[in-house]
Amino acid sequence: MNDKPRWSADTRLIRAGRSLNDTALAPVIWPSSTFVTPTVAEGREMATSVGPPKFYSRFGNPTVNGFEEAIADMEGAEAARAFGSGMGAICAVVLGLCSSGDHVVTQRQLYAGTQMLFQGACPRFGIDVTYVDGTDADAWEAAVIPGKTVLLFAETPANPRLDIVDLERLGAIKGPMKAVDSTFATPLGQRPLETGCDIVVHSATKSIGGHNDVTLGVVASSRELIEWMWGFAVLQGAVASPYEAAGGLRGLRTLGVRLRHQSASARLIAEQLEADKRITGVRYPGLPSHPQHDLAARQMDLSGGLLTFDLAGGLEAGQKLVEGTEICQLATSLGGPETLVTHPASTTHVNLLPEELEAAGIGEGTIRMSVGLEDPEDLLADILGAL
Ligand SMILES: *Cc1c(COP(=O)(O)O)cnc(C)c1O
Repeated sequence: MNDKPRWSADTRLIRAGRSLNDTALAPVIWPSSTFVTPTVAEGREMATSVGPPKFYSRFGNPTVNGFEEAIADMEGAEAARAFGSGMGAICAVVLGLCSSGDHVVTQRQLYAGTQMLFQGACPRFGIDVTYVDGTDADAWEAAVIPGKTVLLFAETPANPRLDIVDLERLGAIKGPMKAVDSTFATPLGQRPLETGCDIVVHSATKSIGGHNDVTLGVVASSRELIEWMWGFAVLQGAVASPYEAAGGLRGLRTLGVRLRHQSASARLIAEQLEADKRITGVRYPGLPSHPQHDLAARQMDLSGGLLTFDLAGGLEAGQKLVEGTEICQLATSLGGPETLVTHPASTTHVNLLPEELEAAGIGEGTIRMSVGLEDPEDLLADILGAL
């Protein structure tokens, strides 16, 4: 972990990642896939170093390195590495750091892509995976097999029910590396490296990009672990494009105002929905009714723009709602200016059996909502109208 920075996070977000910018105020896009090598000796130096900014863009790129520098700064990490998507980043953490015969512990509630990586690719590569209830801090510790468990992979708040993993307890577990998918919280909402975790991952496609026009992922960690992951990533080839990295840097500059607006709107909508009889339950980490509200308040600075709620009318009511809203649009993603709603039981989780749905914490009438930047009163009227 780095020393305490002189400026607050909101100020650093505006200026971070400009060390290769010369006098340009805005991030500079370097689309070049390759760079002229002045001498053979410099070429050899770049070919054998980690993430050279001006050698060949699969190894490193000035715009991408700028985005990595900004994320490392925001997370208080020694280094970061950007990827072509959040899944590119998660693959590099799991497959770049684990080998055949290793054991990984993760939680049952996970982003669907991450879950498929653990259920499909990991067994194929001989990596054993144990699933625990992520909200049970003792279960993480109990699942560790000394000498065999190399990685604990958590996601908090987690898809789709916004369950919280206790980062202090996770960070205190000795032995394996601790990685946290912090996408829902963003670097402004929580900083897992400060609680003793080793690796933080983001799908920057979501709140960091923030405008639904960037596909990007990033990992922040110690220089040593980033170098290990870079060694895998340069062969995996899931590199971030300089255009997407510039989109990530643009998003970071407005993350503070966006996330505060979204957090305030989500709280207001969650409170109002909780008071409606047609809704049987609302999950929002910022509400006292969330079963882990105290923990969320302790480890998160902002509760974020995501909430879930359950409709009394079940499957039919869920499908009707997501087709009946005008402002809230039916699309998978989160963290952008447009408010999006999803009905997991008929879309992302349609292949699950009823008991599997229940284990994932998804009801037939569960709606996930990513609150955007519209007027929250309009959004509320839109939802209540569609009910
Ligand atoms: C979207 C998402 C991912 C995957 O990111 P992509 O950019 O779509 O590859 C991983 N984790 C979480 C929590 C996500 O929301």
